[in-house]
Amino acid sequence: MVRKPDFVFLESPSKRKLRRGPGISAVIIHHTGSDNALPFLLDPVNQVSYHYVIEKDGRITQTVEDEGEAWHSGHGTLFDTPGNPNSYSIGIGLQGDGNKDAFSLLQMLALEQLVAYLVFMYSVPLNRVVGHQHVDPNRKVDPGRFFPWHGFLMNVAKRLLLTQNEDV
Ligand SMILES: [Zn+2]
Repeated sequence: MVRKPDFVFLESPSKRKLRRGPGISAVIIHHTGSDNALPFLLDPVNQVSYHYVIEKDGRITQTVEDEGEAWHSGHGTLFDTPGNPNSYSIGIGLQGDGNKDAFSLLQMLALEQLVAYLVFMYSVPLNRVVGHQHVDPNRKVDPGRFFPWHGFLMNVAKRLLLTQNEDV
């Protein structure tokens, strides 16, 4: 069993309460592009949301339930999967701009724990843990060039392997 990391819940008004389609089969990682993302995401005018936001100090806020659709990746596709990517993915927003600065260690540790939990919980293949820039390459550049894909995926895989024998 992979433990779900601690988080707080602040409900976003920008969501579809229940998913269309067959369920969760991908995790899409974003940067928020700003240091003040939560008020923006909770304002209904903006019609943007992630399931989870991770701030620089590692705090996780869930703003849309996993069974709902957050509005983070309305264009593009992943391996020609039918449907709008929002319908089959969990969206995670990392506070900051990954084309300007590296993400903090606390942020990456929180992300690794959260993604390991989601992959375990919903049987998401690791090659479907991707960035917004991979789903929508003509329009999007996040989470950006400083996102450490190799080390991140290795650490998620390590957490999943450890769970075969113990709680992590
Ligand atoms: Zn994005």
